[in-house]
Amino acid sequence: MANISIIIPCFNEEAVLPKLFARLGAVAATWHADYEIICVDDGSRDRTWEILKAQHAQDPRWRCLSFARNFGHQTAVSAGLHFATGDCAVVIDADLQDPPEEISRLLAKWREGYEVVFATRKQRRDPLIKRLLAWGFYRLLQKMTPLPMARDAGDFCLLDKKVVAVMNALPERSRYLRGLRTWCGFRQTSVEFDRAERAAGVPQYTFKKSFKLAMDGLFSFSAAPLRLATYLGLWVSAFAFFGVLFTLAQKIFAAEFAKIGLAPGAGFPTIVISVLFLGGVQLICLGILGEYIGRIYEEVKGRPLWILRDSAGLVTTDKK
Ligand code: UDP
Ligand code: MG
Repeated sequence: MANISIIIPCFNEEAVLPKLFARLGAVAATWHADYEIICVDDGSRDRTWEILKAQHAQDPRWRCLSFARNFGHQTAVSAGLHFATGDCAVVIDADLQDPPEEISRLLAKWREGYEVVFATRKQRRDPLIKRLLAWGFYRLLQKMTPLPMARDAGDFCLLDKKVVAVMNALPERSRYLRGLRTWCGFRQTSVEFDRAERAAGVPQYTFKKSFKLAMDGLFSFSAAPLRLATYLGLWVSAFAFFGVLFTLAQKIFAAEFAKIGLAPGAGFPTIVISVLFLGGVQLICLGILGEYIGRIYEEVKGRPLWILRDSAGLVTTDKK
């Protein structure tokens, strides 16, 4: 049985894989432990799968899975965790933005007795707009959830097999793994690191994918948006109540109001403004409800999280 499992989601990563094999292979030799490296091909359209299979043929400690289509990064990592057999599992990106050399620091903390060791980014070398959005998102999420979510922590982490077992048993479909990892509890700690630039290839996390991930984080771990809808409703009702009182007074004391320049108008603008305002608020509240209902629908359908197309070096008979 392997001791350390490394999990690497790969989507169209043919350019970076040779570098990953060389660098991670060299680092792994310094651990003096048994290990397995599980690469999950998330429905790549390039030669990722062929390259992964060739690597397995050369060194059977490199194992791989291939999805029938692109299921997304969080699902790829979930599948890796599902098939991991190590006493601990390390999740790392394929593009070498998370330096493999840092894994030994994660392992050292694990040997000290921590069950979850996550890496926080001291600095990111991503475009300014991405850094700003990430900065805002982590802070908003912290405000909205009662869980102690870490700021600036990505998916690069080490999980003890106890935590992996708990995560694997969680049935939910919209998997925001950083949240689930925090939700699990156990003894958690972090190490800081500098996030490097992509070693090769292009980013596979499009803005749409990142936005979906952020929404999953917010809506799966917080009921605050629902409360926001309630508060919005209360504030608007209070505002409308005073608006009604004011309009009535204006009608009854028309002469007095006219003296101070507040004579009742024809009413048309007031109606248009209130209809649009109320319509807007109602749509926002419907949208918020829709986010939750959509998620409930996804969960209830109970479709498998992923579909495997092929695998190499792994026992994949136990279906997810
Ligand atoms: N990835 C994946 N499926 C996707 C998108 C990305 O498995 O649909 C993998 C990708 O191959 C990489 C990791 O997730 O190993 C992080 O992706 P990327 O580097 O594009 O994201 P960024 O570092 O820009 O956040
Ligand atoms: Mg990257």
